[in-house]
Amino acid sequence: PRLFFVGGNWKCNGSREANRGFIEELNRAELPTDKVEVVIAPMSLHVESVVRSIRPEISIAVQNVFINKGAFTGELSPSAVKDFGLDWAIIGHSERRQIFGESDEFVGKKVEACLRASLKVIACIGETESERKANKTEEVIFRQLSAIKKELTRVQDWHHIVLAYEPVWAIGTGLTATPDQAQQVHETIRRWLASNVNSDVADTIRIIYGGSVKASNARDLASKKDIDGFLVGGASLVAAEFIEIARSHL
Ligand code: 13P
Repeated sequence: PRLFFVGGNWKCNGSREANRGFIEELNRAELPTDKVEVVIAPMSLHVESVVRSIRPEISIAVQNVFINKGAFTGELSPSAVKDFGLDWAIIGHSERRQIFGESDEFVGKKVEACLRASLKVIACIGETESERKANKTEEVIFRQLSAIKKELTRVQDWHHIVLAYEPVWAIGTGLTATPDQAQQVHETIRRWLASNVNSDVADTIRIIYGGSVKASNARDLASKKDIDGFLVGGASLVAAEFIEIARSHL
């Protein structure tokens, strides 16, 4: 009974015109909200115009926050995101980790800062290609999960998190994890949660997959028992493609 969850991570893409066209199409699509939760993460510059025009049952996320407000030029504070009326933040995306040097510890602190500001979090984890080749997938995932757990003081906090498993080698490469590869890691994540948090969290938390998800592979991935949805990059920029992914489990 986990509500299917599909996020569109637009990354550093979009324009006012492209966004307008996308939203018109998305607003017309048949998306039963009792069967799928849809969240879009535009570039922060575009958040306000997207919020104003998108159908109200779709939530908007920011793609990153800092851990505080104040003299931090160029950053977004969790409290301002909440004050603006948004509910979600993507935290720990591999592009933040790899290009902007965010450590596991920093990501853990960001997750905690969001929850403290009453934002829900799409927390991203995942191994690189070399880590997978060295059979370190579990070790990396567990290390990333532990760093989040370390910052959370209440078991309840996990109910405000969606975990996105995004193998770095599958992001933007066209190399989607096979349904079995993804299922195996999702199951491992649930097992870690059962041992390190509790069985209720392990059973109820949404674990979504990200990495070259397209309309053509979403259905097979969605059929796996521990895959509760997707975090979509490139394919979330094309409305028809994204809508099909959002409906892939129906
Ligand atoms: P792609 O779907 O473009 O591979 O990106 C996945 C991703 O990073 C979503 O956050």
